[in-house]
This record gives sequence, structure tokens and C-alpha cells, in this order.
Amino acid sequence: MTLDMVIRGGQILTPTGLRDGTVAVQDGRIVAILPPESEPDARETLDAFGAHVLPGAIDIHCHIRSPAYPNRGSVQSETGAAAKGGITTLFEMPITDPCCNSPERVALRRDHFATRSLTDFGMFAAPVELTEAAFFALRDAGAIALKIFTTAAPPDRDREFAGLAWPDTEAQMTVLRLGAKAGLTVFVHAENEALVANATARAAALDRSCAATHGLARPPEAEAAAVASLLAMNMVAGARLHIAHVTSALTVEVLRRFAGTSDFSAETCPHYLSFTEADVARVGVCARINPPIRHEIDRTTLWEALSDGTLAHVTTDHAAFAPEEKAAKEGDFLTAPPGHPGLETLVPTLLDAVVMGTLPMERAWALLAGNAATRFRLPSKGRLAAGADADIIIVDMGEETHITQATLLTNARAISRLTDGRRYKGRILRTILRGETVWNGTAITAPPGIGRFVKPEDPR
Ligand SMILES: [Zn+2]
Repeated sequence: MTLDMVIRGGQILTPTGLRDGTVAVQDGRIVAILPPESEPDARETLDAFGAHVLPGAIDIHCHIRSPAYPNRGSVQSETGAAAKGGITTLFEMPITDPCCNSPERVALRRDHFATRSLTDFGMFAAPVELTEAAFFALRDAGAIALKIFTTAAPPDRDREFAGLAWPDTEAQMTVLRLGAKAGLTVFVHAENEALVANATARAAALDRSCAATHGLARPPEAEAAAVASLLAMNMVAGARLHIAHVTSALTVEVLRRFAGTSDFSAETCPHYLSFTEADVARVGVCARINPPIRHEIDRTTLWEALSDGTLAHVTTDHAAFAPEEKAAKEGDFLTAPPGHPGLETLVPTLLDAVVMGTLPMERAWALLAGNAATRFRLPSKGRLAAGADADIIIVDMGEETHITQATLLTNARAISRLTDGRRYKGRILRTILRGETVWNGTAITAPPGIGRFVKPEDPR
């Protein structure tokens, strides 16, 4: 038999650890990991001598927003950035205009992405109606998970947040109960509304051009209190609960205290792992992200939480804005649009940590791919083994990645100020999606629309 593709000579990260071998690919799937000396016939042979062959990353938290807001980027531009960044599957958040909050809108966005995407993709939905029938309908539409905020909708963004903003604790409990019933993962942006609202009101009297004002307006106890409340409720509700973008040592402490009490997971993002409030002050409102980037003790605690398993995922929270949207609010840390691009720095951040000895390779790739595939029930994703999708990146750990705005593929390169000029150990040489090279180290080489919709395996 002539295979479609073989990858020879690399160190392959398999579910049982790193090993030398040859990856055999047929019809978009890995059919075998062969011994290193084997030389099967193939239409395409890739040499990975001296390199690592790793699962493509799964970014479970991404905001592309298309088809709304074309000025912020397109499915093609942002999934291209993802592919360059070593991501082969991403989950798109429901914040768009109008909010992705019904089976019809999930289908509409699914079809929009399906003709344009360069990665596989899942779709979040927001629950508008808190009824069993509505939750079952979102599950049947193939939503990868539900997203909610425990905060109120930001001013003038009601359409984007219709179904997302549930500051009322009773409503949060209902979402958890119904999520459990429907088998839908509940993914939460957790900050306590009253604590944020009161702190923001106090911060309004301070210097809005000062980065610290943002941190004071959204203090770590607002995050930790919301997380503790959700975790306590989930001991009764029994949902699959996921806590988005943990930023603080305080919240890590809460997660540790609730360990084992219900089925929950939590994530953090590269900007909280690489930067502190001093960097936000240096960069300006382009680095305004909710919840805020905090202090050195938080940053180092987040790395510890990745090592000890308190945090099981690292995600981009990629948020593209047009430069004029950030520029209009320069000098105002209370109202500038929150978010920063991250699709091209997620994998480099963890590759760097592996080279520097902060995390073992196996742990880093559990955080980037394996845990996501398990948590969101995508059995063909996130692992290099016979039967899995051939979603693969080839990486040279001896080279480096120099991120500058000019090198980025995201349409939001102009606001990508935090990471500008940063050097990361390790370099992505190639990204392969189901056996097709999407990024060859210098350019996107696959047609838009190669990406496919993914949905969780039925829990029943
Ligand atoms: Zn987000």
C-alpha cells in the first residue's frame, strides 16, 4: 500500500511518551507509528531528523467574531494565524453580533467557518432560555460547550451578550443544573458582578491612564469569589464546569481547596504567564484584558498550578480588535476594549517553557492538546496514535521564534503590542491538519475551508 504521508526521523510524542519512529498517515488519519528504520512507500515523505513531532494544539478559547466585525479580521486571517501558531483545532466563543445563542445561529456560524477555516473548529453557544428543551436543542446543534459570564453585559453590547451575561447567582445555578442534564460543558468567565461594579465605581475617581487602575477595578477577590461560588454550587448541580482564564494566586488557592469536590477544570493564558502589570503600563491599553494581567506572585503561582495540575489547560483568549478601536480609548484603562491577540504565541510560550525546563514536554502537550480532547470529548484529536486525526506539528527545539508585529498573520497585528519583539525558544517548522500541510514554515499552503466543524462525542 502507498501511504499518503510519512514523517521520518523525528522524536514523536505518543500517549506513552517520546519515542523515535515514523508516522504513517492515510486518509487524514494516523494509521501507525512505525519503528524508525521502516521506509514505507508514500506519496509525500517529510524528514523530521533532529526535530520533534507533536500533536497540533487545541485552543479551547478563541474570539474571531466573524461574520460580524470584518474590520477585526476574518475566519481566514485568524485561523491562518492559528495554523502558523501550531493550532489545528480551535473553539470559537459566541460573542459576535448577534450573539451565537440559538441552534440556528450555531448552524449559521458553522457554515460560515466551514468554507473559510484553516483549522478544525468547535462552536460555543450562549443559553438564552434557561429551559431543558433549549439546552437540549443547543446540544443537538453540536455546540462544543456553553459559555456564560457571571458579570453583566458591558455598556452598549447587549446584542453581543444576549444569553451570555448571568450576574444573578440563582440563574448561574440553573445553568449548571441544566448543563448537567444536557451533558453540555459550562464554560464560565468568572468575576463577581457586585465586587467588580463597586471596585469600578471607586476606580473611576483614580487616574484612568494608569494601568493599576484597571487592576483595582477588577480585583483578584472578584475572580476568586465568583469561582468559589460556582464551585460550591457545582457540588450540588454536578455539571462539567470549566473556569476560563484564571489570573491570580488567590483563585489558584480556591481551585486547590475545591479539588475533587465536583467535575471542574480551569485554564490560564500566555499573557498571564509571561507578563505583569508593569508590562501593561509599558504597552498601554492594547494590553487591557479582562480579567487583568496581575503581579509577579500571580504569574509564578500560575506556572506552579500548571505543573501540579490545578490548571489543566492553556488557551489563547485571542481577541482581535481594529487598531482604531483601541486607539480611540488610549489613556483610558476603564473603558478600552478588552483583549489581545494570542494565536501565534500560545504554542511558543509552552515550547519555551519546555526548553527552559519549566515543564516537561508531556505536561506541556497535555495542557495544549491532550486534556482538551478528553475534556471536550473529541476522541480523534490531541494525540499521536493509530486511529487519531493526523493533526501534527513539527518543531525544532534548537531554533527560536522571534515575534514582531510584522511577522504576525493575525489581522490584529497592530494591537499585538505585549508580545512585540519577544523571543521564544523553539520554532514551529510545519503544521499539518488531517494529513495536509497548512503551514510550511513560511506560508499558508492549504485552501480556506479545509477546516471542519467538530462537536463533542455524544455522552449518552
Ligand atoms: Zn474570552
